[in-house]
Amino acid sequence: MSEFSLIHNHFKHLTQSHSQTILGIGDDCAVSCIPPNCELVSCMDTLVAGRHFPSGTHPYAIGFKSVAVNLSDIASMGATPYAILLGISLPQNDDEWLQAFSQGIGDICKKFHVDLIGGDTTKSDRLTISVTALGFVEAGKSIRRDGAKVGDHICVSGPIGSASLALSQILTHQKTDLQHTLDLPMPQVDLGQKLIGYATSMIDISDGLGQDLRHVLKASQVGARLHLDNIPCDDALNTLPFADKYQHILNGGDDYQLCFTMRQDSFDNFNQLYPNSIVKIGEIIEQQEVELFHQNQQVDFKIQGWEHF
Ligand code: ADP
Ligand code: MG
Repeated sequence: MSEFSLIHNHFKHLTQSHSQTILGIGDDCAVSCIPPNCELVSCMDTLVAGRHFPSGTHPYAIGFKSVAVNLSDIASMGATPYAILLGISLPQNDDEWLQAFSQGIGDICKKFHVDLIGGDTTKSDRLTISVTALGFVEAGKSIRRDGAKVGDHICVSGPIGSASLALSQILTHQKTDLQHTLDLPMPQVDLGQKLIGYATSMIDISDGLGQDLRHVLKASQVGARLHLDNIPCDDALNTLPFADKYQHILNGGDDYQLCFTMRQDSFDNFNQLYPNSIVKIGEIIEQQEVELFHQNQQVDFKIQGWEHF
């Protein structure tokens, strides 16, 4: 099968259902319309086999996750995802593999009403997938990393540490009930949009809660006090020794939950409107450091998330 029939058979049907798409896959460029009074937000994430997912991961999961991680970045700005571009470097043209891969891409695109408007297909020894995501946000309303203020609550959108535990179980050949959290992360797109006008800063947790929170603190020039007991997590993590549990929660990564800051009054209002959708885990302090408390005692724990170099 040629490169062109590959694109036609596996990707062409995922284009042009969104009202903002004027021209999808098939020409030199896609053409899109930006809604009035909106800004365009864009991001790109690359997944390399053996580095971002274990070799042997199901192609459906690889497709799904490569889109999910990008939609999570769009969500973290409070934006609405619109479309993706897909760059793939494949070791071989395997029809069955591509079928499952494009099904994974298609399912998450449909779920969030996202078009696949273009991409690039090449051959390479190592499977590499690079997705560019585009989204829209009302002009001036995007939620950035640099808005946290002293006294703000620090919140997360859901359980932290599950994917990291799942990965460690898989790598040590143990049974895991958390495989889906690693393979099929669900970007917090709806919540991200709802937080516009409430959150003062936001980031999505991809490289570890500790490290990603630090990006917010640095950009905002503030510090944080975290109450470890309040960080939501799967029951499986509660059976682990303290050091292992918080290694997964603070340093694990691959959570794709949102971490954001809010003033007390916004927090109260948001909780009334959307009960039980966010969890407070700490507060912003003036000293530019991260203080960790466990059962009201300050504890030491090395924060060190995922880094490539
Ligand atoms: P060009 O040579 O002009 O760059 P290509 O032959 O690479 O164009 O691509 C033809 C069309 O197919 C373009 O619309 C491009 O965006 C799309 N395309 C190529 N690869 C992919 C892919 N992996 N996923 C989605 N669209 C793709
Ligand atoms: Mg061209």
